[in-house]
Amino acid sequence: MTKLDQAVTTRFRRGLTGWFRRHGRDLPWRRTRDPYHVLVSEVMLQQTQVSRVELFYARFLERWPTLHDLAAARPKQVRGQWEGLGYYRRAANLHALAKVVVAEHGGRMPKETSALRELPGIGPYTAGAVSCFAFEQRTPAVDTNVARVIRRAFHPRRPKDPNDKTIWATAEALVPRGGKNAWTFNQAIMELGALICTARVAKCGECPVRSACKTGSRST
Ligand code: SF4
Repeated sequence: MTKLDQAVTTRFRRGLTGWFRRHGRDLPWRRTRDPYHVLVSEVMLQQTQVSRVELFYARFLERWPTLHDLAAARPKQVRGQWEGLGYYRRAANLHALAKVVVAEHGGRMPKETSALRELPGIGPYTAGAVSCFAFEQRTPAVDTNVARVIRRAFHPRRPKDPNDKTIWATAEALVPRGGKNAWTFNQAIMELGALICTARVAKCGECPVRSACKTGSRST
């Protein structure tokens, strides 16, 4: 595991999670721990904006409230329900995944990232996100937002690379012990990347982790 300065890590976690409790958006998938519902949101969010996903997420789950319901659907119906979201491969993978989980896991989503990675369409990020957001496991979940925050805060000299092992190792070291704290931390760092430390601009002046950030503490 990456060695991080303990005082900096504590400051980073506290600033981040305190801010998230005050400013994090109330999104429907943050109100559930249902693994299937979390999965649907994560797959939809992969290429689509939050506001658009909110609408499709509600419709999709109204049509197929459980993994068993989705597994029993026809491919054409799933594709039709996805119409307007784009990147249809995601819908096909989600449908295939539902069938595999029903056939091979008794309809229950696995909670370990290694087992999740075996399922259709599940990459390292989605495996980490489902494991943490549905099961509150202590797993890193590094998407482009999270990678950007960690790079700017801890590794400002490293080139942008979404598969950078150092970024993943730092994310792993930062996630607090399991349960609600791990859930809150991963949601919070994602939210910081979406709202404050964005690709377009780093709003260091209003950032809650500035004093623990290598980039922010140097900026004026
Ligand atoms: S201080 Fe600036 S660079 Fe660092 S995490 Fe916050 S917004 Fe990003």
